[in-house]
Amino acid sequence: MTSTPTRWPKSGPSWLKVIGLLILPAVAFAYPAGHLAVNHEPSLEDDSFSLEKRAAHILETITLIDGHNDLPYLIRVELKNKIYDEKFTFESGLLSHMDLPKLRKGKLGGQFWSVYAECPADPETQIADPTWAVRDTLEQIDLTKRLVEEYSDDLKLCGTVACARQAFEDGKIGSFMGIEGGHQLGNSLATLRQMYELGARYITVTHNCDNAFATAASTVAADGQDKGLTEFGHEFVQEMNRIGMLIDLSHVSYQTMLDVLAETKAPVIFSHSSSYALANHHRNVPDDVLRSVAENGGIVMVTFVPFFLEVENPSAATIHTVVDHIFHVAEVAGWDHVGVGSDFDGVGVVPVGLEDVSKFPALVKLLLERGATDEQVRKFAGENILRVWSEVENYSWALTSAGEKPSEKTWLGRKWTRADMSMPFMFDDSMGNRIPGKTYP
Ligand SMILES: [Zn+2]
Repeated sequence: MTSTPTRWPKSGPSWLKVIGLLILPAVAFAYPAGHLAVNHEPSLEDDSFSLEKRAAHILETITLIDGHNDLPYLIRVELKNKIYDEKFTFESGLLSHMDLPKLRKGKLGGQFWSVYAECPADPETQIADPTWAVRDTLEQIDLTKRLVEEYSDDLKLCGTVACARQAFEDGKIGSFMGIEGGHQLGNSLATLRQMYELGARYITVTHNCDNAFATAASTVAADGQDKGLTEFGHEFVQEMNRIGMLIDLSHVSYQTMLDVLAETKAPVIFSHSSSYALANHHRNVPDDVLRSVAENGGIVMVTFVPFFLEVENPSAATIHTVVDHIFHVAEVAGWDHVGVGSDFDGVGVVPVGLEDVSKFPALVKLLLERGATDEQVRKFAGENILRVWSEVENYSWALTSAGEKPSEKTWLGRKWTRADMSMPFMFDDSMGNRIPGKTYP
């Protein structure tokens, strides 16, 4: 339901409103719009400032950060990652949800670009067998870095909160990378660390497939068992805490959410999920988890995917539905724990009123119109995710500066191979303990 902000103090007697209504037309003629009914120093939360002005002021002074955008994957799908030929008209405009003119209009200050690669095709063998997922992920990281470099007047690659803030100060869009599933790491903690080195700053624990770390929401939706985090998954969470990788719980099963929240010592994110209480979809966040996220200090970045907003009738989803979800997360978890994760360019259909990234100011304006304070909207837009990210950075710094070493654990189901060739022995028992030799054709 839409509620218009009141022009009078909420506690004020009703007769004041009556007098106000009577004198309002006269005052309107006597003063310019910006001074209506002001009898004290004007502030930006006065209704005498239009909602647009309040929204514009917020977006000029806080970096609006979106948790999830699939442009790199769209470039892969349509252009095989080629951005230098004339077909990629990023500067003059694209039909999809994201390009430079739309970005500028949308006042976006920071973007987590998803460097997504698909789950392996065969769910039975996908964990143990080598796949191309790591190569494809490296290609998406390479593409995202080239994209940022090619449009460096507008974009800046960042791996720290300090850089994200500086990019905003410099009028650039901070560009951060997120990996959407442990399968993209080949289920390896060594790969996890190297992805961090390459600039990835969040890992979604699973995409739409189970992996060596955890159960995916899609498995449970297909009547599979919800096993939550595996034993190795607990190690994965600890290692992400140690290196300062944001842990993303979008796409994971309910039990995985609970297990990660019990294990992690740093705040988590949901990079693109909405409220389960409002839309019973397995990709959304139930209220008990919202309360745990609040305790954990994390953030749920509400997504625009119509299927997760209106399960029964996705085509009915509008910008108002998104605001309903944002308010629900804020009511249950608090305004310190809500943000935005559009999933633009990753879905064919988007809510009415949120057609592309140029519409972010309309979302901010509607939040204000529905009664959120400027301070609450500032947290939602960017302060929350930057707080979460800096807590993750600080905890990592505490662990690494205390000398905590990288984890050398590997998944027990992992297959190892070596060539059958003559090599020296390091130990007396080397003969019996080596990976068996293999003759290649
Ligand atoms: Zn996703």
